[in-house]
Amino acid sequence: MRNSADRTSANGTPIPLRLGVQRLRDNPRASVLIIGGGINGVGTFRDLALQGVDVALVERGDYCQGASGASSHMIHGGIRYLENGEFRLVRESVIERNALLNLAPHYVKPLQTTIPIYTTFSGILSAPMRFLTHRQGKQVERGAFLIKAGLTLYDFFSRDGGTVPRHSFVGRKKALAAMPQLRKDVKYAATYYDASVHNPERLTLDVLRDGQLANPEARATNYVSAVGSGGDGILLRDELTGESFTFTADVVINATGAWVDGTNSVLGAASSFMGGTKGSHIVLDHPELLQACNGTEIFFEHVDGRIVLIYPMGDRVLVGTTDIDTGPETPAVCTEEEIGYFFELIGHVFPDIVVSQEDIAYSFSGVRPLPRHDDTQPGFVSRDYRIERRKETQGEREITTLSLVGGKWTTFRALSEHLANDALAALGKARVQSTAGMPIGGGKDFPRSGAEEREWIRNALRPGFDEERVRVLLTRYGTRAGEVLDFLAEKPERLFNATRELSGREVAYMVEHEQIGHLVDILIRRTSLAFRGLVTSELLTELAQALAPLLGWDETETAGQIRGAESILAERHRVQVKSLAV
Ligand SMILES: Cc1cc2nc3c(=O)[nH]c(=O)nc-3n(C[C@H](O)[C@H](O)[C@H](O)COP(=O)(O)OP(=O)(O)OC[C@H]3O[C@@H](n4cnc5c(N)ncnc54)[C@H](O)[C@@H]3O)c2cc1C
Repeated sequence: MRNSADRTSANGTPIPLRLGVQRLRDNPRASVLIIGGGINGVGTFRDLALQGVDVALVERGDYCQGASGASSHMIHGGIRYLENGEFRLVRESVIERNALLNLAPHYVKPLQTTIPIYTTFSGILSAPMRFLTHRQGKQVERGAFLIKAGLTLYDFFSRDGGTVPRHSFVGRKKALAAMPQLRKDVKYAATYYDASVHNPERLTLDVLRDGQLANPEARATNYVSAVGSGGDGILLRDELTGESFTFTADVVINATGAWVDGTNSVLGAASSFMGGTKGSHIVLDHPELLQACNGTEIFFEHVDGRIVLIYPMGDRVLVGTTDIDTGPETPAVCTEEEIGYFFELIGHVFPDIVVSQEDIAYSFSGVRPLPRHDDTQPGFVSRDYRIERRKETQGEREITTLSLVGGKWTTFRALSEHLANDALAALGKARVQSTAGMPIGGGKDFPRSGAEEREWIRNALRPGFDEERVRVLLTRYGTRAGEVLDFLAEKPERLFNATRELSGREVAYMVEHEQIGHLVDILIRRTSLAFRGLVTSELLTELAQALAPLLGWDETETAGQIRGAESILAERHRVQVKSLAV
């Protein structure tokens, strides 16, 4: 094991992450224990903290390392779910999408979406069968009439949000004028609006922090797993030291996503609620494809009937996704076969654009926490959520366990409110406030226009910082960049040589406020450097040198952290770290 519980930084101060574990050990009891630090566990943590509940959360790895860090980055009503008749989910999703655009504008941005259409009447007859049987049957392409009907219904669900415009339809000529690289036999293009979350990992951290700030009693720690249970409570293990301790709570919330059944099993109550499917994505560094997308998400039906996407995320292009039945035991990775599928689907829409393995900057894969679905095809499995309740008596105490089955990124706030309501009911407590309408972290007072952004940056400037540096911080932290700048300005800041987007001082901020356990946490979940394919061996070395004194790593540990990051990037994300010098 790498860290010891009493390890300090090089200047003798305690390491914040270790202090967090210590707080759990010193007082190993809470009203509610949440297991799982994906967006749904974290959202529920914030909600309960705001109700004044003494809540604790443990995450076995880093926050957002599961499905929450592997999504298609869409905050959407889920037009596709209309086909499955999931009207409740679409309604809730649209409301939440519209709210998030306002409450978290630093990370959730409007997403214009275009569907290229190649037939007019196709699919009209097969659609009702799909709707009724939830089976694909013989693949029949969805044509213009069907898509028009779907979008009209989707507008109807969006009607009172007022946040996004209604859909529009254009013919071949206009479609090709806007996107000349589209397949020439395109007949129509339909455009509608959803949203995308550019930085899901940081949005999760913001939600977490809002919970911590709302209630000093609320405790959340990553790198702590639930590994067993006994008469005395739940056995938790510190994954950085290997040490275990027992924790008790009146309500246990199992928000471990695809791992819910495994977690119930270690808690001593076997379940078979889950039936996850794997989905992968690649991130391409491909200027021609980026330009071909013309700033819009291309959302379309591939030849196998799956709805897939290609869309610009900053200066990269995200392509996904697959839907393959899988178990949660082995880590999900994007395979060669899936990459072949992605290249093929790009060719289906943009036949003249050539994409190769060298263009892949990053890849990722995750398991959707779907309900067990027996013989229903993955694409038709409900994306809605439900809460399974169990009560048991331990000695004098009655323990309630709530297991979350399903749950999308988009609906996390509403879902968290439902889970929190169930926990409050079990505790006999009343809700004090709602999270609806509550700005999230650095989304509060976030500048909405270019002019507002320039003004914000000018006002935030400190001696020694230029506008570009402040812009990077504003993008990364939203308006919380102000407090980050205050921290950075206390000592001289020197940007790394390997990237001008990070400094040793900012790494110190992350260690102090963001529970860094491993070097790779910063590359994948505190910055977008890995996502954009910007990790080099020079960056690994500089980052490791900055982290070592802060986390009390000796030379062996530092070298191990670099190797660990390289192997995670290679094995899980197909990234071979190269030197800048090559
Ligand atoms: C490929 C793909 C594409 C998707 N696209 C979208 C999309 O575009 N829009 C959308 O709204 N949704 C999308 N989703 C769905 C969405 O990402 C997930 O449903 C959501 O993130 C689930 O969050 P969660 O917190 O419930 O689970 P997770 O994020 O999986 O979190 C569960 C956590 O529990 C932890 N854990 C497990 N066991 C233990 C234990 N014993 N002790 C402590 N911790 C434990 C895990 O490490 C994990 O971090 C997509 C999902 C996938 C996989």
